[in-house]
Amino acid sequence: MNNYNDTNIWFPFTQMKTADAPLQIEKAKDALLFDENGKSYIDANSSWWVNVHGHGNSHIQQKINEQFQRLDHVLLAGVAHPPAKELSARLCDLFDQHFQKVFFSDDGSTAVEVALKMCFQYFYNQGEERKRVLALEGAYHGDTFGAMSVGQRGYFNKPFEHFFFDVDFLEFPTEDKEEDLLKQANELFSSNEFACVILEPLVQGSAGMRMYRKEFLQELTALAHRHGVKVIFDEIMTGWGRTGEMFSMNHIEAKPDVICLSKGLTGGVLPMGLTLATDEIFQAFWHDDKTKALLHGHSYTGNPLACAAACASLDLFEQAESLKNRKRIEKSHAVFIEEMQGNDKITEIRQQGTILRLEIKLQEESSYFASIRDDAYRHFLQKGILLRPLGNILFLNPPYCITDEQLNQVYNAMREFVDSRS
Ligand code: PMP
Repeated sequence: MNNYNDTNIWFPFTQMKTADAPLQIEKAKDALLFDENGKSYIDANSSWWVNVHGHGNSHIQQKINEQFQRLDHVLLAGVAHPPAKELSARLCDLFDQHFQKVFFSDDGSTAVEVALKMCFQYFYNQGEERKRVLALEGAYHGDTFGAMSVGQRGYFNKPFEHFFFDVDFLEFPTEDKEEDLLKQANELFSSNEFACVILEPLVQGSAGMRMYRKEFLQELTALAHRHGVKVIFDEIMTGWGRTGEMFSMNHIEAKPDVICLSKGLTGGVLPMGLTLATDEIFQAFWHDDKTKALLHGHSYTGNPLACAAACASLDLFEQAESLKNRKRIEKSHAVFIEEMQGNDKITEIRQQGTILRLEIKLQEESSYFASIRDDAYRHFLQKGILLRPLGNILFLNPPYCITDEQLNQVYNAMREFVDSRS
């Protein structure tokens, strides 16, 4: 294609001294990526879980093209434009008007920063001393400072840890611990010092697609509300049909005050983050005093092309085909899980909607850097599958257009990898 090489790229999450040479991807269509030699790879995890409809979708392409011809970009402060108006209105409808305000930002991390700021300032504006935050161990909410503060502490963010604000963490809620954890949360919330609790609802993505019960999510959310604590659902990964409902929050009765969206929002083709808030949150910012406003924004806020892509993605979700595909994937996972259940080389295999999680038994303690991770990554690449394991956890979070044949190809490669373990 061209003669440039990749030596000037500083790759994310990569120790470049020891990393394998990167794949050279030049094209993509539907669930497939193609390298410079034309070899195809199934994009088994939708490129960091973003490309929900697959690549090169013609409807999204058409809507971005049309938008580009009308308006490519304009700032959003003091200016509104049709795609931002359409997207915000359609999203509020999608949530049955539970959320009434949509704040635009650039990606998942910024959507989380905004959510935290909304909750902190909600209390500040009303002169209430609530400054503490509750989060779950193992959480990942992004790589900016606020988002890192509410995430799992450890080797990913050790050099910065002294800058983080204090956060209380609850242990991961396996079923046997639920009752105790709810008691602990109740005690913490009783201090009346907590502003908010932030959760990846039902599935902790980066912790290795760790799944917990909707009953715990329901109880913790309801408990927080009983104590006047605001609830943030980070649905950046779990949103857009991943967990069997359009959003994880649709599995339960209780509702968060704030929700963060990104990744599949634009069908995964343009970056954008959104933070949606209830009118009750918004009212705390509605004031004659200008300093009570949410004084936050980014240059690309509400970019019209990204909004057009997101509206096009909503069109696709409205088509029966989308739900049909998700149900097909869910059923297919269930059959594979049944087959693998009880395999003595596996610690756990389970699904939540279209997300499949397979944890391989290890002699040593599980870790993101376990050597098995690199072995597995190379194994899948060699089979024509791009699947980045999280340590010893193999998982599937596929584009909904993935075919049955492609799914089987991935299951076969998983089976082979598990069987090859001594
Ligand atoms: N929250 C969750 C649950 C995520 O999975 C991620 C990204 N993996 C983020 C936040 C951060 O999103 P981004 O990478 O777009 O900043």
